[in-house]
Amino acid sequence: MIDLRSDTLTQPTDAMRAAMASAEVGDDVYGEDPTVLALQERVAGLFGHEAALFMPTGSMSNVLAVRSLVQPGQEVLCESSAHIARAELGAHGAYSGITMRTWTHPLGHVDLDAVRHLHVPDMGPFFVRTAAVSVENTHNFAGGTVLPLDLLRDLREWTTGVGATVHLDGARIWNAHVATGTPLADYGATADVMSVCLSKGLGAPVGSLLVGSADTVAEARVWRKRMGGGMRQVGILAAAGLHALDHHVERLADDHAHARLLAEACGVDPASVETNIVVVRRPDAASYVERAAAAGVRVATVGPTTVRLVTHLGVGRADAETAARVLAGLGGPVS
Ligand SMILES: *Cc1c(COP(=O)(O)O)cnc(C)c1O
Repeated sequence: MIDLRSDTLTQPTDAMRAAMASAEVGDDVYGEDPTVLALQERVAGLFGHEAALFMPTGSMSNVLAVRSLVQPGQEVLCESSAHIARAELGAHGAYSGITMRTWTHPLGHVDLDAVRHLHVPDMGPFFVRTAAVSVENTHNFAGGTVLPLDLLRDLREWTTGVGATVHLDGARIWNAHVATGTPLADYGATADVMSVCLSKGLGAPVGSLLVGSADTVAEARVWRKRMGGGMRQVGILAAAGLHALDHHVERLADDHAHARLLAEACGVDPASVETNIVVVRRPDAASYVERAAAAGVRVATVGPTTVRLVTHLGVGRADAETAARVLAGLGGPVS
């Protein structure tokens, strides 16, 4: 089976497992795990922020990142198909008492006019105050699209001017970096607090980091423990993350090339594929998924007429070519 359902399906490589097995560890709730400390320092430095905090999941990282910017009873603005709005099961409301309003953009981009229109300053007891704007780069449900850096800069400048903040969900910021050559620190400079994942295309089995100021990270550390996310000898997982940063960032370019190959086979314009995600519109999505699986390629629906293919570390060139042949054989949509 060639599995293109998600880039979370990667298996740790032998070299990654060896790095994990030999990791120096300590009790991270005591702040004494040297491998975790090394990972946190490295990731903070990559994005030009003061500090970072190792988290079990990207969702928990987003929840704590957003709550560091938004008080209970305040709101965060985001794109309507953002992961924080659709895929975190209402956590920002359920845990943090935060509400959301959204704008919609077909590519998941920032719509600065919409943000200006939605934004509400502090109006005392009359309206919900907008405390933050959240952006997702790359944008998962829009199809792995990259947010233009100049838009992110404009957003940060505008929000700062009105006393609001920016959260960046950078689960796949590595893909944006490799696709565009934009330095990670340039992305880091457009956000007050951000979250990045090691468990997607980077191929680590577990782990995300919250990245921000030293104060934000100190407070997030308290909330992480409060929510049951204090971890002990977790350097064994941080070692996988360090290994991924050393060996699995530049190779994301291969995943992007494989995604374009698959797009072509599925009748999608390869030029529209910016990173490792291909969205295929199929009125027959459910049966398409079944027929692909019967032919040895697993893909997933993300809507009744939408199929998503995601390339990753576990899909080499030969697999990508085989999958392209299989999917091309399934033909155009029956409408
Ligand atoms: C995967 C993902 C996350 C975090 O997901 P977890 O499964 O909780 O680690 C956050 N944002 C985006 C855009 C994602 O794709």
